[in-house]
Amino acid sequence: MVDRLDVVVVGGGAAGLSGAVALTRSRRSVLVIDSEEPRNAPAGHVRNYLGREGAPPAELYAAGRAEVRGYGGEVMAGRVVAATARADGFMVELEDGSGVRARRLLVTTGLVDELPDVPGLAQRWGRDVLHCPYCHGYEVRDQAIGVLATGPMATHQAQLFRQLSADVTLFLHTAAALTPTETDELTARGIAVVGGEVTGLEVTDDRLSGVVLRSGEVVARQALAVAPLFTARAAVPTS
Ligand SMILES: Cc1cc2nc3c(=O)[nH]c(=O)nc-3n(C[C@H](O)[C@H](O)[C@H](O)COP(=O)(O)OP(=O)(O)OC[C@H]3O[C@@H](n4cnc5c(N)ncnc54)[C@H](O)[C@@H]3O)c2cc1C
Repeated sequence: MVDRLDVVVVGGGAAGLSGAVALTRSRRSVLVIDSEEPRNAPAGHVRNYLGREGAPPAELYAAGRAEVRGYGGEVMAGRVVAATARADGFMVELEDGSGVRARRLLVTTGLVDELPDVPGLAQRWGRDVLHCPYCHGYEVRDQAIGVLATGPMATHQAQLFRQLSADVTLFLHTAAALTPTETDELTARGIAVVGGEVTGLEVTDDRLSGVVLRSGEVVARQALAVAPLFTARAAVPTS
């Protein structure tokens, strides 16, 4: 490794590796440091990705790392814990106590999906607990789909999933009451609405089979769309 790199890329997911390819092709010396926790790791396949449709996430990242290395860049596993600005660039510190100097930093550390506080969601995240109709919707087409309302975009999410299945139920859960217009729009497309708080999931043979309400009622569902909060990963502390 050279004494001082042109660029250290913090985070080797899709964004970081893409940036690293562009930088290495511009003949910059580049090191990608990645803690290997990409956001889509729970998913079995990458969708809507022209040329690599359906590839497992790990395969996509392995190919990206190979492309970076093919242009002379370096990729290493590790976690950056600090970056200190200096007159000539940055000192980047890793969790293992090592450090590297770089003229520039590219911070591509991604975000964390904070799921609604319902027991069981995290265990099924990326499988039959979903968020994105474009990433996973086709895979649950024509299934019994639930949408867990936790905010004002829930009716929109229900309408998007209605494009994929005629059997969509909106669970009002903790969201505000529907407006008359929202009720009319949901009714027009045959989207059922269920009131009451959702307290859990019913799972049968390792597949979602129902949504459990506080009343004890179980509404049969094969997939549940949720709206996670997108929270930036703890920023790399700089000084
Ligand atoms: C379940 C699920 C399925 C999805 N499916 C699709 C899909 O099919 N198609 C699609 O287009 N999009 C999909 N997405 C969205 C897609 O995953 C994101 O848009 C994409 O991962 C964003 O890439 P990124 O590089 O910004 O962040 P990330 O993929 O999160 O990568 C960030 C990287 O930085 C690393 N990192 C973080 N902090 C540090 C640190 N301090 N030091 C070193 N490394 C660090 C992490 O370990 C990680 O490897 C899906 C998302 C989810 C949650």
